[in-house]
Amino acid sequence: MRRLMQLAAVAAALALAAPTPTAAFSGFGTLTATATYDGEMRFSVQLPGGAPEQLELLLRFAGSDSTVVAPVDPGSSSAEYIWDTADRHITPNTTIAYRWRATNGEQVTLSPEKTLLYDDDRPGLDWHTAKIGAATVHWYGGAESQARHFGSISADAAAAAETLLGHDLVGPIDIFVYDSRDDFFGALGPGAREWTGAATYPELRTIFMWLGGGSSSYLETTMTHEVTHVVFRDATTNPFHDPATWFNEGLAVWSEEHSAADQEGNVRSAASDGRLLAFGGITESFPIGDQAARLAYSEGATMVDLIVDTYGQDAIAAIAAAWRDGAGDDEALEAGTGVPVDELYDTYFASFGAAAPTAIEPAPILPSNVDKPPQPTAPAQVGESASPVPSPSPSQAPGQADDNGAWIQAAIIGGILVGVIVAVVANRRRGSRTA
Ligand SMILES: [Zn+2]
Repeated sequence: MRRLMQLAAVAAALALAAPTPTAAFSGFGTLTATATYDGEMRFSVQLPGGAPEQLELLLRFAGSDSTVVAPVDPGSSSAEYIWDTADRHITPNTTIAYRWRATNGEQVTLSPEKTLLYDDDRPGLDWHTAKIGAATVHWYGGAESQARHFGSISADAAAAAETLLGHDLVGPIDIFVYDSRDDFFGALGPGAREWTGAATYPELRTIFMWLGGGSSSYLETTMTHEVTHVVFRDATTNPFHDPATWFNEGLAVWSEEHSAADQEGNVRSAASDGRLLAFGGITESFPIGDQAARLAYSEGATMVDLIVDTYGQDAIAAIAAAWRDGAGDDEALEAGTGVPVDELYDTYFASFGAAAPTAIEPAPILPSNVDKPPQPTAPAQVGESASPVPSPSPSQAPGQADDNGAWIQAAIIGGILVGVIVAVVANRRRGSRTA
């Protein structure tokens, strides 16, 4: 009996000591990804030989130069990453390129890259599509005739913008036509303004239209305007900077009628009130206030009109080409017009009988005249190293936060949202004009 127990103990010890058959990472098996709109994106990968020491999912969203890196805890033979899109909104029709990265010691292994289309597959939206020119129009319900009409307008608008800008579209455009307000705003996600009637995401080459967003002439004009933005993006994209906002918006407004005649009154009345905006002030973004925002569109459109009238339509293509080559705004405008940019601005303001606006000096901030309540006295410092004001610690830098890269995702989403602001502002202007 005692000998048996000894044997059992030895056997148990041997079992503990014996190497268990550990799985070793041997490369990636099948990659899959699925998505449900306003639900989740789910990425899976098989690990036939076992899990690596470190596993990450790399995601690149269409229109963004950044990569989202998501650390993933693998199982013994597979791994999965779920992005909750009800919580972190993704615009429909976004293509996401994904691949997995395994790290074992010094060895880094990348899976092949595959793509997932995050589309609007909500129940009840039985999408139909038709290809018209460079556009694919998508509609559901009974909106086929309107959708096809938008398609043909977009083809005309794209052709006109291509001629003007001397550059062709570099890819197709998708136009989604929503019948109901709820469906439309469900696609735009949180943060969309309630007066929005259409939205364009140039980096996704996608335009969302709501049939109830305005009169049919408003929707047609909007389509021309938004398609011009997509062609403009293709004609000017460069790795260095975005072209001046006033030019981008001004060209889109000018393209609606190939004229800025209906914008001149707005500029003239601002000139007589001394309210004109310097172009340098509407280069990065437009004012938030409705009146100033509309003035920014009007100044942009009338400046484009002045350039076309004075220097010819070829000047527009030359300006776009300079931007495409990486020129700054001043260089690009001079490349197209042949005159220094200050002279161009002076000519513009003189045509409205005004001088170029000058910068307003900030008023000095006077010393506080507030009576402070009694302040607690600072505790005596202990030791020489004590510092009364904690200085920012390098470990607090976002790149080293221990939130598993959530900050990167936030930055990416922030970047994606930036792209649509132009369209949203445009629609406010347009909405208020047609309201
Ligand atoms: Zn616009």
